[in-house]
Amino acid sequence: MAKNIPTILPGTPPPDAAKTLLALLHAQGEVARLSEREQLFSTLLNSVNAVLWAFDWETRQVLYVSPAYERIFGRPVSLVMADFNEWRDSIYPDDLEFAERSLAQVLLKGSVEDREYRILNAEGDVRWLSDKCYVNQQRDSDRVIIVGIAEDITEKKRLEGELQRLATTDVLTQSSNRRHFFECAKQAFDKAREDEAPLTFLLLDIDDFKAINDSYGHQEGDQVLQRIADSGKAVLRRGDLFGRIGGEEFAAVFPGCTAKVAEQIAERLQREIQRLNFGQSERMYGVTISQGLTGLTAEDDTLDSLYARADAAMYQAKRQGKNQIVHG
Ligand code: GH3
Ligand code: MG
Ligand code: MG
Repeated sequence: MAKNIPTILPGTPPPDAAKTLLALLHAQGEVARLSEREQLFSTLLNSVNAVLWAFDWETRQVLYVSPAYERIFGRPVSLVMADFNEWRDSIYPDDLEFAERSLAQVLLKGSVEDREYRILNAEGDVRWLSDKCYVNQQRDSDRVIIVGIAEDITEKKRLEGELQRLATTDVLTQSSNRRHFFECAKQAFDKAREDEAPLTFLLLDIDDFKAINDSYGHQEGDQVLQRIADSGKAVLRRGDLFGRIGGEEFAAVFPGCTAKVAEQIAERLQREIQRLNFGQSERMYGVTISQGLTGLTAEDDTLDSLYARADAAMYQAKRQGKNQIVHG
């Protein structure tokens, strides 16, 4: 094609035909550039793990959803373009009210960036979305268009949960660690004081644990700790707290439970642990524990006073010969 372009001498204005041809070539170049840009956008939209969307507030019409919708929701774009309820129906039922309320807030605020909710994709898997939205007021028009970006943050949420678990759990026994146990115990204590409800605090210490380590080795000691923790967890009721607060020391909090009822739970645990067998056939041995427990009184202004009383009761159990429960 370039062969047919008339030669234009420098300084002379191009003839009309040449002008038209130049305009045509320019337009072709422009088209090529545009299609290149469109391809670039399309690649970008396909590769980001987020759905870009636009929505007409008045007509409840979805104006645009990017291709990632199909990947994240597992549903065809055409369906959500035809009916906004397709998106709404994917939202995890417990999160629907929040998702709708926070979307409506965009009209007042102009933007809502802290929207996180769950959806159920076509396979029934739960996925977490961070769905930010913004008002896009059209110039010279009353039409309110909401635009948004819904990012799949499922993996981020999973890692956050894992991090939270690692930060709050004792690795050896998979029970709450000391810090987490006392944080939860403080909340339970405050709630019991507010509701004037009963609450019992229990401390448990393994008897002569050092001798187990000395006789059978540290690894064997670790296994004893794991099995004692399992027994502790097994006697708990829903809402009770249990944690490893020291080397061979565990604690429990029983919200809504008087010391009398908690004592029955402690007795059950005492018997459970007495029944356990440790070691191998010819070197079998048993383990005992000492427990101190105390109930919340009107004089207890802090959790520490309750803890101190349970601790004193537990040491009294040790002094009195171990393998027993003392009520402080
Ligand atoms: P008492 O009957 O008076 O409670 O005596 P005890 O031997 O149980 O108590 P002591 O405080 O003398 O010893 C506790 C031992 O627990 C000492 C320590 O080496 C051991 N220990 C602490 N943490 C761990 C652990 O994670 N694994 C193992 N195997 N041993 C631990
Ligand atoms: Mg001990
Ligand atoms: Mg101890």
